[in-house]
Amino acid sequence: MIVTRFAPSPTGYLHIGGLRTALLNYLWARRNGGKFLLRIEDTDFSRNDEAAALAIVEAFKWVGLEHDGTIEYQSSRLAIYQEYVQKLLDSGKAYKCYMTREELDALREEQSARKERPKYDNRYRDFTGTPPEGREAVIRIKAPLEGTITVHDGVKGDVVFNVADILDDFIIARADGTPTYNFVVAVDDALMGVTDVIRGDDHLSNTPKQMVVYEALGFPIPRFFHVPMIHNHEGKKLSKRDGATDVMAYKTLGYTPEALLNFLVRLGWSHGDQEIFSMKEMLELFDPNDINRSASVYNVEKLDWLNAHYIKNTPNDKLCELLEFHGVMLVSHDKREILLDALKERSKTLVEMAAQINEILVRPEMFDEAALKKGYKEESPMILKTFAEALRNASELHLPSDYHHVMEEVVAKLEIGFGKIGQPLRIALMGKLSGPGLDTVMAIIGVDETLARIEALLNH
Ligand code: GLU
Repeated sequence: MIVTRFAPSPTGYLHIGGLRTALLNYLWARRNGGKFLLRIEDTDFSRNDEAAALAIVEAFKWVGLEHDGTIEYQSSRLAIYQEYVQKLLDSGKAYKCYMTREELDALREEQSARKERPKYDNRYRDFTGTPPEGREAVIRIKAPLEGTITVHDGVKGDVVFNVADILDDFIIARADGTPTYNFVVAVDDALMGVTDVIRGDDHLSNTPKQMVVYEALGFPIPRFFHVPMIHNHEGKKLSKRDGATDVMAYKTLGYTPEALLNFLVRLGWSHGDQEIFSMKEMLELFDPNDINRSASVYNVEKLDWLNAHYIKNTPNDKLCELLEFHGVMLVSHDKREILLDALKERSKTLVEMAAQINEILVRPEMFDEAALKKGYKEESPMILKTFAEALRNASELHLPSDYHHVMEEVVAKLEIGFGKIGQPLRIALMGKLSGPGLDTVMAIIGVDETLARIEALLNH
């Protein structure tokens, strides 16, 4: 069985890059009928960081990801880690080191004077004497002294690390008994039965250390997939300036979860030249072995394009629900089908759509000066009055086409072009010269409101 996990360090919110990692792990587990676990890496051990977990679960809920089992908090697992530290001490694979801070500093200084990489010199590795008086010990693991460690990475291929360049007998538990990062990650992944680790390649250099822990404890080594970071257009790590980093901000900005997940899965993974992936397709197609080797570029235009696609293809009932979050209540609006059909092709985000809906439903408070200058001519009041009269006399005005017929009648009667009525009418209805089709707008707001808006412009 494939078991994956998402193991965020608590930041108080779910980072957009974190969601990508979570998604890839989720897809791989679900595709294989496996498990997708959630672990909060809150290693200060003073308290459970439940707020961190809540923020992640909230974001998961919004996008529709679900983890299996209970959430593990590293802060609750101290006793487990201590047990495994003790196991390594008992088996001679770890040892106590009594070196003081001053001794360590002195060693580092000598090494850097010799232009060597600072590393522990193994002075307590085989120590059997009496511990120096009054000193506290840290626990170090016995790492290989020479040779290489190869990470068989599903994305990067075989990555060979030279032991001399990256390892020493690193600390697995501090003097106060708290374990260190790479130790707990390896212990947790092993005990949680994680078979496939998909994570950012900023963790690649940790992997050999974690492999040392796996080996010392006799745990099988999982498969690794180190995913290149998400970059901005300048090739730097994504930052707040490039776009929202908090996943929930994307909800506020009017993105749909489907668009966001589609956007994220394509950051670093592809399947031919397909751009649109439903969750069903992602689940059928995603394979971490196909993750790209090079960094992927965050491109908000692409996200907007995907979002427009998903808005266009969202059923109106669902759209109504989504728009409520943006302050638009359409449940009981009798013309909501016409309204949504008219706007869903024109909106990049739900925020944009909500604004466009309000522009139609709310009577304009002002008329745009430039629009008046351009579109409201001497003959305009007469044309609008004639049109209003025709509307009053018309029976059965419901559909956009009904209103269109009245407009046609009026232009024929007055022997004018469509623009002569279109421009002033648009100003009356929308306060400006842009917006969706006028017949559609009138059908949505109804004849009384149309007449009231024409009246308001005539009195202006
Ligand atoms: N806690 C780490 C992070 O948030 C992830 C560790 C891992 O995936 O192994 O970057």
